[in-house]
Amino acid sequence: MAKKDYYQILGVKKDAKADEIKKSYRRLARKHHPDVNPGDKASEDKFKEVQEAYDVLSDEKKRKVFDRFGYYADNLDPDSPFGAAAGSAGSGTGGFDFSGFDFSSTGASGSGSSFRDIFSDLFGGGGGARTTQAEPPRPLPKKGRDIEIPLAMSFEEAFSGLTTNITVNRSEQCSRCQGAGDTGGPVVQCPTCNGTGQVMRAGGRLQFSQTCSDCEGTGRRRQPCSLCNGKGVTPKTEQVKVRIPPGVDTGSRVRIPKKGHGGRLGAEPGDLFILTNVGKHRFLERKGDNIYITVPITVPEAALGTKIEVPTVEGKAQLKIPSGTESGQKFRLRERGFPSLRNPKLRGDQFVEVKITLPRVISEETKESLRQFEKLNPENPRKTMGLE
Ligand SMILES: [Zn+2]
Ligand SMILES: [Zn+2]
Repeated sequence: MAKKDYYQILGVKKDAKADEIKKSYRRLARKHHPDVNPGDKASEDKFKEVQEAYDVLSDEKKRKVFDRFGYYADNLDPDSPFGAAAGSAGSGTGGFDFSGFDFSSTGASGSGSSFRDIFSDLFGGGGGARTTQAEPPRPLPKKGRDIEIPLAMSFEEAFSGLTTNITVNRSEQCSRCQGAGDTGGPVVQCPTCNGTGQVMRAGGRLQFSQTCSDCEGTGRRRQPCSLCNGKGVTPKTEQVKVRIPPGVDTGSRVRIPKKGHGGRLGAEPGDLFILTNVGKHRFLERKGDNIYITVPITVPEAALGTKIEVPTVEGKAQLKIPSGTESGQKFRLRERGFPSLRNPKLRGDQFVEVKITLPRVISEETKESLRQFEKLNPENPRKTMGLE
C-alpha cells in the first residue's frame, strides 16, 4: 500500500505555515490543472494528488491526524488514547504501515471496505448504522462554496483588461425547500449514505469514510425534497459577465462576488474566482509591472547616435540612442509597462537593452570600406590588458 507524504507532494516543510501551504498548493494546482494540460493523464493524477494533500494539510484538525499517523482518515482522533496506541505501531517519521495488516482476516474483498472494517474494529464503531430514534437535526443556514475557474488571456488582454462572458456550472438555493433539503415530510433512512451516516470518498488508492453531510452522520433525515433530492441546492448553468481589470498576471485571482455555489436557508452564495493565466509576447518580457526587451542596433547607430523605434505593448515608441552607446546599455521608457493592480494610476516602466550587431559583409566594397575605417581609426581595445 502506497504511503503518501503530503508535505513532499506540496513541496513544503513539515513545519510549514498555513499560508506557505496555500501558496504552494495554488502554484502546483495551476501547473497541473486539467484545463491547462488537456488530455495529460500524468498531470491529472498529479492534480488530484495535490488536491488530496491540500485537503488534509489545509485543515488544522486533519493535518494533526496526518502528522500523528502518517495518513488521514475521518474517524481518527489525534488526541484519543487509541490513536496513541496505533501511532506507536508505526515508525516515528513515516507513520503507519498498512502492509503489516492481514486484510484477509476481515473476510472482505474490496480493499476500501476492509480498510474501514479494520478501523471499525480498532476504534469501535465509526461507521455503523445508528439506532437512535431521536429527531434528525434541522439543517442550519450555510454559505455556498466558492468556485474557481481558470481563464487564459493574451499578453495584450492582460495589459488592457478584459470583459467577457464565462459559462459557470454553479448551483442555487432550491426554490421548493429554500435550501432545507426537505419540506417537513416523514423521517426516513438517509438515501445518500443508506442510513450508515458515512459516505466513502476516494483519496488516491485509499478510500476514506466521511461523515454524510446530508444527514449530519445520523443516518436519518426527513423525506428529501423532490426538486433538489435533498441537496438544498439545484444545479444552474449560468453565463456570468466578468470584468478582468488591466494589469493582471498569471496567477491573479479576480473575485466575482456571489457567483459561486448557492447558499442554504437564506445564507449567501459563495464567490466566483477567476484565476488568470497570461500568455507570452513575441518580444516583450514581463517582470511584475515592468517590461523588458532587447533591441539590436548597428555599429554606425551606436557610434553616431540616432533615434530608433522600439515595440511596446501599445505599439511603437521612439527611443533616442546617444552617440557612443555601448552594447548592453539599458534605457528606460517611463510608464510604458503594465498598470499596477493595486493602484491603477501607477504604471511600470519598459527597459530597453541595446545589443550592437556586426555589419554584414555583403560585397567587396563593404570590405574595402571596413579596411578604410580601420586605417582611419587605428585602435586596440585590448590595450589595457598588456597585450600591445
Ligand atoms: Zn429542495
Ligand atoms: Zn446520510
